[in-house]
Amino acid sequence: MQDQLLTYLGEALVHGSLTDEVLLAETETHPVLPILPNANVIKIGGQSLIDRGRAAVFPLLDELVGNLAHHQMIIGTGAGTRARHAYSVGLDLGMPTGVLSILGTFVSMQNARMLHYLLAKHGIPFVEPVQFPQLPFYLEERRAVIFFGMPPYVFWQPNPAVGRIPPNRTDTGTYLVSEVFGARSMIYVKDEDGLYTADPKKDPKAKFIPHITVEELEALDLADVVVEHSVLALMKHAQHRRSIQVINGLKPGTLSLALNGEHVGTIITV
Ligand code: ADP
Ligand code: MG
Repeated sequence: MQDQLLTYLGEALVHGSLTDEVLLAETETHPVLPILPNANVIKIGGQSLIDRGRAAVFPLLDELVGNLAHHQMIIGTGAGTRARHAYSVGLDLGMPTGVLSILGTFVSMQNARMLHYLLAKHGIPFVEPVQFPQLPFYLEERRAVIFFGMPPYVFWQPNPAVGRIPPNRTDTGTYLVSEVFGARSMIYVKDEDGLYTADPKKDPKAKFIPHITVEELEALDLADVVVEHSVLALMKHAQHRRSIQVINGLKPGTLSLALNGEHVGTIITV
């Protein structure tokens, strides 16, 4: 670009059609900027972890605090059992998916608020999406923040292919935060060692899968998986976050190993 006002791409975008695939492909010429490349995004499961109360939550929070000196952490919360109850009442009353999405958001926020008060004495703030521009400051100064994992689709939450439960929930919201900021990792903290060939709570013969690609996982066509399906769908178009890690937060030390880049739990890649 010398003295012309618009680059070649600028010219094409201003005058071309935004549904033209050739033009759209040209928008990928430059790599996407990793905005917070040192931050780790950690999702703390709602039903799998927070709903278990202090026995599960306190040791995990101690481990998070122990990692403040070594790692920047953006901590998102799941919603869990109370959201499922709210969904059931909402469904009974005829609420659409977009309204159920609002209900889930508030439950995820309740969990974030509680973890926030537990961590407040360590100087860890609770942030809402409107405060994300301050993430660099908080991560630099305080090393960690807590947010609610639900993506802010609210009324705009798309209907699922089957049924009415919002398809983009807290696994998805945290994944998208890791993706958009080009974060260092996406770690799901749940109550099983990772992904199995079936839900290990229902099938004692389920086999542990340490590593798998999204494509291989889809080919297995498992009846149930450990993360929301929309995460796997989004990973296919990832610019940054091409791997996720699912770990057992009930086993002390596992989160620290994951933060240190060790292969614990299951790693899913594209
Ligand atoms: P969260 O608390 O983060 O919302 P979920 O409860 O939605 O987590 O998902 C984690 C649960 O998924 C695990 O507790 C496990 O029982 C279940 N699950 C279902 N299918 C699988 C699978 N194939 N491998 C491992 N866990 C599975
Ligand atoms: Mg879940």
